[in-house]
Amino acid sequence: MIQFDIITIFPELIEHYANESILKRAQEKKLIQIKAHDLRDFTIGKHKQVDDRPFGGGPGMILMVEPIAKAINKIKSKPSTRSGYKSRVIMLTPAGKTFDQKMGKRLAKYDQLILLSGRYEGFDARIDKLVDEKISIGNYVLAGGELPAMIVTEVVARHIPSVVGHKDALAEETFGPSPDYVEYPQYTRPENYKGQKVPEILLSGNHKKISEWRQKMAKIRKI
Ligand code: SAM
Repeated sequence: MIQFDIITIFPELIEHYANESILKRAQEKKLIQIKAHDLRDFTIGKHKQVDDRPFGGGPGMILMVEPIAKAINKIKSKPSTRSGYKSRVIMLTPAGKTFDQKMGKRLAKYDQLILLSGRYEGFDARIDKLVDEKISIGNYVLAGGELPAMIVTEVVARHIPSVVGHKDALAEETFGPSPDYVEYPQYTRPENYKGQKVPEILLSGNHKKISEWRQKMAKIRKI
């Protein structure tokens, strides 16, 4: 069971995605738990302020260190945290290490992932000291860290046994056997779509030959 704790100012964005499809089923089966924490619940003043102007000037607002520190401390000190419980705090930022399948597999070994989802112009630099690693989902800038947090959550969750229906699914899919592996082409009905026919071999029922064909096709397919 991995606990995903996502700190955000838009918890509903997380809840909508987390409560559908594969993530919903994984939570029902108690394989994972996803909790969105509203950063505004950890503010000090009555205005629930989470951001402020940058010192030195410049565009936009910066997420303040205090509410985030308070949120992390509260989430980390849950009574359920037994000894040996492995928790990791991750900041979602375009300036982080680029996320990939291998990182997803590594993170699936933790008991708890605390994901910091930014907004506006990002985080006060002193928040760096509170995090174990920084992850980017790609070389582009989004308006917020909610999508990146859900991407990391889903990739990590898929590496937990029984989250994905078929036990061999991950081993056979793109990136499964190696970082440059691309899955073989797949087909379903109809057998003939506007003259494009399903390769004969897949209709043969010869499993050995089908497996050989798939391995060959995977080798010649490129990302
Ligand atoms: N000013 C920041 C910079 O130049 O690096 C960008 C801030 S961005 C508009 C707001 C938030 O979205 C970030 O704090 C981060 O949490 C999230 N975000 C945007 N792009 C991201 C990416 N590629 N990977 C991970 N998080 C991202």
